[in-house]
Amino acid sequence: MTDSELSHYILAGWLIDGSGDKARRRQLLIVSDGLVDAISPADGADFPDPARLTDLSHCTVVPPLLDSHLHLCMSGSIDQTVRQAQQRAGCHQLYGVIEEHLRQLFGHGVLVVRDGGDRLGCLVDYRQERAGDGEVLIKRSGQAYFRQGRYGSLIGGRPIETETLVERWEQDGQQVDQVKVVNSGLNSLHEFGRETRPQFSTAELAALVARAHAQGKKVMVHANGRLPVRAALDAGCDSVEHGYFMGRENLELMAERGIFWVPTMYTMKAYGDHADAYRGMADRRVIEKTLDHQLEQVAFARQCGVRVALGTDAGSAGVLHGEAVVEEMKLLIKAGYRLEEAIRCATEENAALLGVERQWGRIARARPANFLVTRGTPAQLPRKLSYLEAIYLGGRPAAAYRR
Ligand SMILES: [Zn+2]
Repeated sequence: MTDSELSHYILAGWLIDGSGDKARRRQLLIVSDGLVDAISPADGADFPDPARLTDLSHCTVVPPLLDSHLHLCMSGSIDQTVRQAQQRAGCHQLYGVIEEHLRQLFGHGVLVVRDGGDRLGCLVDYRQERAGDGEVLIKRSGQAYFRQGRYGSLIGGRPIETETLVERWEQDGQQVDQVKVVNSGLNSLHEFGRETRPQFSTAELAALVARAHAQGKKVMVHANGRLPVRAALDAGCDSVEHGYFMGRENLELMAERGIFWVPTMYTMKAYGDHADAYRGMADRRVIEKTLDHQLEQVAFARQCGVRVALGTDAGSAGVLHGEAVVEEMKLLIKAGYRLEEAIRCATEENAALLGVERQWGRIARARPANFLVTRGTPAQLPRKLSYLEAIYLGGRPAAAYRR
């Protein structure tokens, strides 16, 4: 047999490749040994033997999605009793919760995720799955670092007291894929734009970043407000998480330095959608105004060229694993992103931030033939990503995916 006898053909009605380029109509993909061998316009091409052709001419094909900020040990339930039980549970009780979230992620075509920290560090010992049929690749942070007396116990568990960040990093044995540091408080749901102080000095953060980078690990920093974000940027962090109220000057610096921003807008929208459930704890008008402000910041980030990566903060109240990616995409589009650009934030940009850009993030020649299939045209996206027709891995439908 020759190589070409092993190859097969896929006809995509529309192809969105993850690069941000416009959707291309009627593309023919040649797949050999699980890799994309060639992509060309179908019209005018030598049409292959129908027995070797998969006809997806009624569908739009996009790369598998990634989520660069979620919490696998927390579910998106808005039920306080469920949330509190998860906040008291031990790792063995949480493994089932993690499994369920991974199933949901796979079912929504989210095949690579970056966890933003868990209270007990359960994910450090959890088997790190490979992305594949029914499996999701996890980039783990373990326990997030935060200062005694400040926000962070939900995702960190063990505050920094007298030791420095670097000392903690050395003690922990660095058995994680990236470091998560909390450098501000949460956004106020009562008072618009209230800022909190940085938890760590720029010098202390910079020392940690230098040590982590020397070991090939990135540093993700939770930071809202001007000063906490500025400290993270000056320390040389790799991504700013949330970044509410960081201001234009910080955004310009991020564009200049190529630092990623993960704006997690859907968490704020979800608080607004469920504000009645938190009577007394949240003011719907403040939440809506806060979301509008973040949408303006994202619009500015797009204009000035900040690299925006899509993270959902799934596990927050009302933010469900898997389906939240589409919700976050809708908000990027509301902020002015074209559909293909919003998809790029969840694919190519996320793959770059997570360090998996060789395998994931783009449908291109010599890459694995991995993609999601949605019925219909790009005009029906991103909504149709919630109802995938199929997930293809290595050019074949994934058996674990059932509609
Ligand atoms: Zn988070």
